[in-house]
Amino acid sequence: MAKTHQRVGHLYVISGPSGAGKGTVCKELLRTHDVHLSTSMTTRNPRPGEVDGIEYFFVSHEEFEEHIANGDMLEYAKVFDNYYGTPKDAVLRHLKRGRDVILEIDVQGGLQIKKKMPEEAILIFLLPPDLDTLYDRIVGRGTESKADIDRRFNEARNEIKLIGEYDYYVVNGVVADAANDIASIMNAESHRVPERVSELIKLYDE
Ligand code: 5GP
Repeated sequence: MAKTHQRVGHLYVISGPSGAGKGTVCKELLRTHDVHLSTSMTTRNPRPGEVDGIEYFFVSHEEFEEHIANGDMLEYAKVFDNYYGTPKDAVLRHLKRGRDVILEIDVQGGLQIKKKMPEEAILIFLLPPDLDTLYDRIVGRGTESKADIDRRFNEARNEIKLIGEYDYYVVNGVVADAANDIASIMNAESHRVPERVSELIKLYDE
């Protein structure tokens, strides 16, 4: 029987400041594409309407630190005084099966992934159209205090300075357009000639 190309999934990191619209854009992407969105673990409290195991796995500080000690996390970072991290097992399982995986994580986490998995990881930075829109989006969420809003806004401006470490950027003005742009990047990446090109050549060499 003819051998066919067996691909390993790509690991897409989507970062961007709080208010860039990562959550909304990823949801839109999931509606139209067969990708696995990793569920992160966090020590922050659930916001109204958030459900354990859906938006995040909500755990205590002690539990999170136990997972770090056990080596269960692919990456983790402290963001706004809380731990956030990516549980390793589910991500690796999907990648091995050839499924693309998205991590919606902050820049600190994105850089850890780039270092750990340089061959698999593709880093995409989501930007707001401008700073006024960013501020309005952070305020519009309505779940944060004034101090939190200011902190997130300042943090956002610092995060944007690290965009040079990323492979692609997408501006989120209209959600559907931003999701399409990410889909185009994913499509192009799935046609990239792989590092281990010999495996691809072998398939066509009798
Ligand atoms: P929020 O509290 O608004 O849900 O998230 C705060 C920040 O933490 C966002 O920038 C979000 O992307 C980031 N974040 C969420 N999950 C993870 C994760 O697993 N790892 C890292 N490093 N950051 C995360």
